[in-house]
Order: sequence, then C-alpha cells, then structure tokens
Amino acid sequence: MADRHVDHLLVGGGLASASCARTLREEGAVGSILLVGREPEPPYNRPPVSKGYLQGAEARAETYFRPDEWWAEQSIELLTRTSVLKLDAEERVAVLSTQEQVSFTTALIATGANVRLLRAEGAQLDGIHYLRALGNADAVRADVAGRERVVLIGGSYIGTEVAASLTTLGKRCTILMQEDVTFERSFGAAAGGYLQRVLEDHGIEVIGGDALGRFEGDGERVTAVVTESGRELPADAVVVGAGAVPDVMLARAAKLELGARGGIACSSRLETSASGIYAAGDVCEYDSVVHGGPLRVEHWDVAFNQGRAAALNMLGADRAYDVVPYFFSDLADWASLEYVGPASDWDQEVVRGTLDGGEFSVWYLQEGRVAACLSVGRSDDLEHARRLIVSGADIGDGAALGDLGTDLASVGV
Ligand SMILES: Cc1cc2nc3c(=O)[nH]c(=O)nc-3n(C[C@H](O)[C@H](O)[C@H](O)COP(=O)(O)OP(=O)(O)OC[C@H]3O[C@@H](n4cnc5c(N)ncnc54)[C@H](O)[C@@H]3O)c2cc1C
Repeated sequence: MADRHVDHLLVGGGLASASCARTLREEGAVGSILLVGREPEPPYNRPPVSKGYLQGAEARAETYFRPDEWWAEQSIELLTRTSVLKLDAEERVAVLSTQEQVSFTTALIATGANVRLLRAEGAQLDGIHYLRALGNADAVRADVAGRERVVLIGGSYIGTEVAASLTTLGKRCTILMQEDVTFERSFGAAAGGYLQRVLEDHGIEVIGGDALGRFEGDGERVTAVVTESGRELPADAVVVGAGAVPDVMLARAAKLELGARGGIACSSRLETSASGIYAAGDVCEYDSVVHGGPLRVEHWDVAFNQGRAAALNMLGADRAYDVVPYFFSDLADWASLEYVGPASDWDQEVVRGTLDGGEFSVWYLQEGRVAACLSVGRSDDLEHARRLIVSGADIGDGAALGDLGTDLASVGV
C-alpha cells in the first residue's frame, strides 16, 4: 500500500519537469501534481550556468524557472533535495528518498543527464571541475578567483562558453580538444573555424587535434595538463566539458525500454514502453516524425517543448512531438549562434552571407535535402530551414540557399 496517491508524478527537478507541471495547470488539469528533484534548488535554467551566472552577470534567482512562491500558487507540490529511488511501472508506485511511497496515475521521467567523467592519471587532483549545476559554477568561480590560467578540455559548447566567460573575468584560457577546430563535429570546419577565430581574437589559445594525456599536480592541486602528444599546458584550474550521459538509472531499474542512443526509448508521443509513463528532455529518445527515426538531443528548447508535449499527452491529446530541435549558444557577447536540425551527417555545406562578416548561415544538406542550419546573426533564415527540414524538399545543388539575391521563401516550394 502506497502512503499516498498523486495524479501526476514528475520525476526530475529540471526544465522538462517544470515545463510539464506548468502546462498541466495551464491546460486545466485539476488533479494533484508532485515534482520531485534531487538538487537543492527549484527547477532552473542551465544555460546561464556556463554563461551569465558564471560571469556573475546573472543572479541565482534569475535562473529559476519560476519564483519560489509560484509553485504553491499553482498547487504544484515541489520536493527538492529528494530523489525517486525506485519506480514500479506496473504497480505505478514510486519510492522516494524520504521513504515515502507514492502511487500515481500518470508520470513523467525527466531525469536529465550527468557529465561524462574523464578517466586519466591525476583526475582526482583539486582544481579539476565539471559543469552541470549552479553549485558547480559557484565552485569554479570561487576556485579561479586569484588564479590565472585555466585549461578547458573540450572544444564544443561547454568548453568554448566557459572559456569565453572566464576570459571576461580576466582569466587566461586555453582550450584543448580532439577536433581540429572548435564545434567541428556539430557545425563542420568552416563555421567551427569562424567561431574559433572569434575565441582566438579575444586571447583564448586553442589547441586542436590533441587529447588529454594526464593531469599533473603538486600532490594536492592540479598544476598542468599534459596532452597525449606530450605538450604541457600550465593550469591553475581545469574545467572539463566532455559531454553528458543521459541518466537512465531509474528507468533501467524500472525495466523501461532503452534506446540505442542511450536514452529512454519513447514513441513519437513521448510515451515510454510503460503506458501512461512519459519521458522528456535530455533523457528522452523519441521516435521523431520529423527525422523518421529515433532522436535524442540535449537542448534547452527541446526540454521545454517536450515537457509541454508530454503534459498535453498525459491529458489525452494523443499528439506526436513534431517540433524541429533548436539550440542556441553565446560566446560571451562576442558571438551568438542558433541552430536547427540536428544533422549527424551531411554531404554538402552552403554558406549564405560571408563567414568572416559575422552574419551568415550555414546550410547542411544530405542528398539535396536540408538536414540542419546554423545561424550567426541571421535568425530569420532558421524559419525557412525548419520548413525545409520538415518538408524534406529536394533543393538540388543548394545554390539558391547561398545566393543572397534569392528569397528563401521561394526555395523548395
Ligand atoms: C552548463 C550548461 C549550459 C547549457 N547551455 C545551453 C544552451 O546555451 N542552449 C541550449 O539549448 N541548451 C543548453 N544546455 C542544455 C540544456 O540546459 C538541457 O538540455 C536541459 O537543461 C535539459 O533539461 P532536463 O530537464 O531534461 O534535464 P536536467 O536539467 O538535467 O534536469 C534533470 C534533473 O533531474 C534530477 N534527477 C535525476 N534523477 C533523479 C531522481 N531519480 N530523482 C529526483 N531527481 C532526479 C537531476 O539531478 C536534475 O536536477 C546547457 C546545459 C548545461 C549543463
């Protein structure tokens, strides 16, 4: 026998759960909603963790999804510092770290992702950081105060954003990455090269085509990063941005089906293999009607929209999730990028605008069809990219996309 029953149990204290809770109420759900999260804070936005909050430009409360009083006003019960330890998908009962047993009618699993930890000699030394939560940003800021050289490991979002943020705080930053240029895997060498030049123009040293060998220290604290090729990079502190791993611990133990991309396998309606139990956000690997197969992405916008979509389906909407994933990133106030897609592979890139003019879009085509688009200062192009990704229209050699004289609205119609 459970200690109590709730209509909607939302597992995970991040954006996807928060968005789900809000939509449930907005759409008129009158039943009880319990949101359980293990972090000390109420749900908050993570993007500032590597940007405004890390720079000290944004206050903690500004990152919160909603002010503290909002949860009670909406009659949403919010339990922080609490984990769901066990989920019985058949009996529909969850066991919380408070020992309470809660039965539920519908549930959302939005347990997010955890940082990918690097194994290397010296990895236990002080001064080596990972970044996921507000508390990690506090630790980095406190640790770099009064110190000078920071090495960032990873040349994608976290590595580049943190390098930019810490440079604005007066630190000397070096990025070490396996790729030849920053963002190469996501955006290719041309756009990645442009973004790398932006970083270098602001004094950041970028070392590509190499990898972490080991950390060196004085017995307690890190003093250098030694690369695989033997380069020694002096470091007063290190921040690792080596990707994230979906947190499927609870789902696996509950015997929910997992997908090949490491997430919880979901239908196009974001329902897991257990009926009435949905997933959303970083942990959700859904059958994308836009992409024609399973997809899992770690984007703010996707967590927000999937939380919403899952709520609507909990209330019986029975709708496929068909939003084209959107991602944004800021390198301090030096460059902002936006992206729709995603493309894991492409055979052609078309640039609209001039790469070094700082206002361009890059179109990623696969067999004459738009798979993704990156914009730096050309946000309006993304609307056309979304349309072309969804329609899958054959646009031939893509020359029209690169011709500023061609109205994008006329392409692929
Ligand atoms: C530093 C950083 C910067 C980012 N910047 C950008 C950006 O600029 N643009 C962009 O598009 N995206 C960005 N992202 C990605 C984006 O923030 C994530 O995709 C989004 O936060 C995912 O939300 P989520 O709710 O799925 O998961 P999470 O935010 O990870 O939330 C899941 C929560 O559930 C908790 N939890 C896990 N298991 C349990 C359990 N069993 N019981 C209770 N609680 C549990 C976790 O502790 C966590 O608090 C960034 C991410 C990070 C880390």
